[in-house]
Amino acid sequence: MILIDGKKAAAELRAELKEEVAELKSKHNKVPGLTVILIGDLTPSQIYVRNKEKSANEVGLKSEVIKYPDSVEEKTVLEKIQELNSDETVSGILVQLPLPKHIDKQKVIEAIDPSKDVDGFHPMNVGNLSSGYESSIPCTPLGCYLLIKKIEPNLSGKKAVVVGRSNLNGKPMTQLLLKENCTVIITHSKTKDLKAECLGADIIVAAVGIPELVRGDWVKKDAIVIDVGINKTDKGIVGDVHFDEVSKNAKALTPVPGGVGPMTIACLLKNTIDCFKRSQI
Ligand code: NAD
Repeated sequence: MILIDGKKAAAELRAELKEEVAELKSKHNKVPGLTVILIGDLTPSQIYVRNKEKSANEVGLKSEVIKYPDSVEEKTVLEKIQELNSDETVSGILVQLPLPKHIDKQKVIEAIDPSKDVDGFHPMNVGNLSSGYESSIPCTPLGCYLLIKKIEPNLSGKKAVVVGRSNLNGKPMTQLLLKENCTVIITHSKTKDLKAECLGADIIVAAVGIPELVRGDWVKKDAIVIDVGINKTDKGIVGDVHFDEVSKNAKALTPVPGGVGPMTIACLLKNTIDCFKRSQI
């Protein structure tokens, strides 16, 4: 079984991006800039944002974090986004989710200029991705896609089962696999026989949020299994895939942690650089 090393893949991607930033700097005499808006003091969000800033600096991006207290008014955030939209030094804008209840998430997402939407959540980018046009792609599914392609460069005709249909993970993952000419089945909480669906899959991407949902006898030999889940349990952090069981069957599997997670941040940097490149045309 191939243990898909997300840390290594992310480090390789960051090294490529670092070189690209240096080339862009010498060509344009400026570097891509990423601005993250962090609202409130939720510890996981603070850790994510700190990691994003550290990685952005590592590859040579200009990075900035704007912090607001939990009590910030929605209007203040929307005005700041408008200001960043017209700031030429800002290539990418990310508002760290989740947001406090009094702030309308959709309004915030739609306020970001689609050409600076490094999360790929703006309806314009969602539509462009599903139409097969150039777009920002949500970072986690993009990371999964790059890991799958490392194992199997030609996905044409493969049967893929995506478990979970969130806007963040399942739906964009489906679009990416479809673009590669996979036959894609998207499953969710109302799917009748998830095991039977998974058993037919050459590729399984699990993004559910249920610890160890995908079992060893759900996976056919030689399947590529990507585990997006991050679940806190008594025995520590586990994924949506039962690692010990599935590793006995699968051709390749991502561990949790150390699989998809590191690729998510590296893909945010990639998206920032891609937004910058499109803005220079
Ligand atoms: P979500 O809660 O938005 O969506 C979960 C999806 O799973 C839903 O579409 C639901 O229909 C489906 N589902 C629920 N129960 C099911 C069942 N029994 N069978 C089949 N489908 C079922 O979750 P999300 O935001 O997509 O996140 C999923 C997991 O991925 C979480 O554990 C989250 O922490 C993790 N995550 C990881 C990363 C990363 O970088 N690795 C990034 C984002 C999210």
